[in-house]
Amino acid sequence: MPKPGFKSITVSDYVYNRFFETYEKNRRGLELKGITSFSGYLTSMMEETMTKYEVFARHEPFMEKIDVEQNRITVKDNKKDKIAEIFLRDDQLYCSLDGNTDCVHIGFVYSLPEFYNIMTTKGIKISRPAFKQPKNKLGNYTF
Ligand SMILES: [Zn+2]
Repeated sequence: MPKPGFKSITVSDYVYNRFFETYEKNRRGLELKGITSFSGYLTSMMEETMTKYEVFARHEPFMEKIDVEQNRITVKDNKKDKIAEIFLRDDQLYCSLDGNTDCVHIGFVYSLPEFYNIMTTKGIKISRPAFKQPKNKLGNYTF
């Protein structure tokens, strides 16, 4: 039984092992980010995924993914009725429409799984906006 204020979920061995192996591999880096337990790791992953999902859901009616290429993701902005091309420049994402590195189109691209696939394929570790970890009532992640 979990402690008061916590819930348990059941996942398959496959899912558990997949996450656990990644956790073990990245343990040191995670500790630097204040993640000191496997549960804490899962919590941060879930929060990050939810953040991405919320960004996606918020922009989804206004943004459309048109095309994904090696160096470029084309996004249709339905609000402005314009096309934005997002491409990689000096390890940063750049928006052709806004001429900057921090706009709604780039935010949208960050929420696309394809974007992470491209980065992984190219072996690029992109400097992405820092994920702020909301703390729970107890102020930590340790279950
Ligand atoms: Zn833009």
